[in-house]
Amino acid sequence: MTGKKIYLSSPTMHGEEQEFIKEAFDTNWVAPLGPNVNAFEKEIADYVGISHASALSAGTAAIHLALKVLGISQGDLVFVPTLTFSATCNPVVYEKAVPVFIDSEKDTWNMDPDALRRAFEKYPNVKAVIVVHLYGTPAKLYEIMEICREHNVPLIEDAAESLGSTYKGKHTGTFGDIGIYSFNGNKIITTSGGGMMVSEKEEFTKKATFLATQARDPARHYQHSNIGYNYRMSNIVAGVGRGQLLHLEEHKDRKKAIYRQYKEAFADIPEITLNPLNEDGDANCWLTCMTISPACGVTPNQIMDALDEWNIESRPIWKPMHLQPVFAKCDFIAAEGNGCKEGVRESAAEDIFNRGLCLPSDIKNTPEDMELIIKIVRKHFDR
Ligand SMILES: *Cc1c(COP(=O)(O)O)cnc(C)c1O
Repeated sequence: MTGKKIYLSSPTMHGEEQEFIKEAFDTNWVAPLGPNVNAFEKEIADYVGISHASALSAGTAAIHLALKVLGISQGDLVFVPTLTFSATCNPVVYEKAVPVFIDSEKDTWNMDPDALRRAFEKYPNVKAVIVVHLYGTPAKLYEIMEICREHNVPLIEDAAESLGSTYKGKHTGTFGDIGIYSFNGNKIITTSGGGMMVSEKEEFTKKATFLATQARDPARHYQHSNIGYNYRMSNIVAGVGRGQLLHLEEHKDRKKAIYRQYKEAFADIPEITLNPLNEDGDANCWLTCMTISPACGVTPNQIMDALDEWNIESRPIWKPMHLQPVFAKCDFIAAEGNGCKEGVRESAAEDIFNRGLCLPSDIKNTPEDMELIIKIVRKHFDR
């Protein structure tokens, strides 16, 4: 164990955050809600170019309320990519709805439109689709949107990892009927914890805000016709977000530079491939990941262990949801030619998981930090 810790992706604060917090203290707008919340909603909506936003306590809460607002309920089927963080699909189960997991394609690692098409054939009465832009790389949105439109099924965009990424010039999170962002600690900007729902439909964000504040009917005597939640973002947290948002473009530029540096550093090692960036888009490069050719015998664990010895943080690729014990009973639709047969569970997502890892992508990494990381990784491929 040597040296200072090098992080995967830790918060990067700038100072303006504290000014917004101070303003909240000075006006005693510590609670409830207040001007930072309203301003942060407007600033995010303006930044991504959408009409309406609702600031919430977490990205997970935003996904949950997106499902509520779309009327997803007990027994409803929802298509979800298998290669994602569990927070994408847990809210489906909160509503006693049933996730069906969809395989990845190789071009972006995201939901495979062909597998999605086959999923619709098998389950024509599915009630919603959730797409994820993994590690910041936009999914094949136009193909996925077209399939959803053909079947008249709403699309939720889990853009938790892709705030700032665009696809054909338009921000991820603004394509679906509802989009969500996360401001969790390791995301590209953070409020320590928080989330946002966005939509062109005001009725959706309004309903979300209503449900997030205990679903109180407009009456003096605390009347409730719905089950509510305590999911609203606080005025202090929103102040942190406003300060961070001023630096989002700068964070994105740094993340992209990290990706480019890894790309160049491993360009002469054919066994290493970085995670794809959708060429129809501009990815925020939230995390740079790599996969290793199976033939060379190097495993992700060997590299993660070697980095760990130097106090350098890395992590595995998200383990596919269809391989999780908690979702063992859920159906999985594999990509074409990848074990579509009953009981066969090979998949493109599993292959990425088996061969991949996330490299340290902290924007505070110094040139020396990057050099050290690169040296440690390269050593495994010395011939
Ligand atoms: C982080 C993340 C979430 C959850 O957001 P929280 O703000 O942590 O609740 C959801 N989906 C994906 C893909 C994420 O990476």
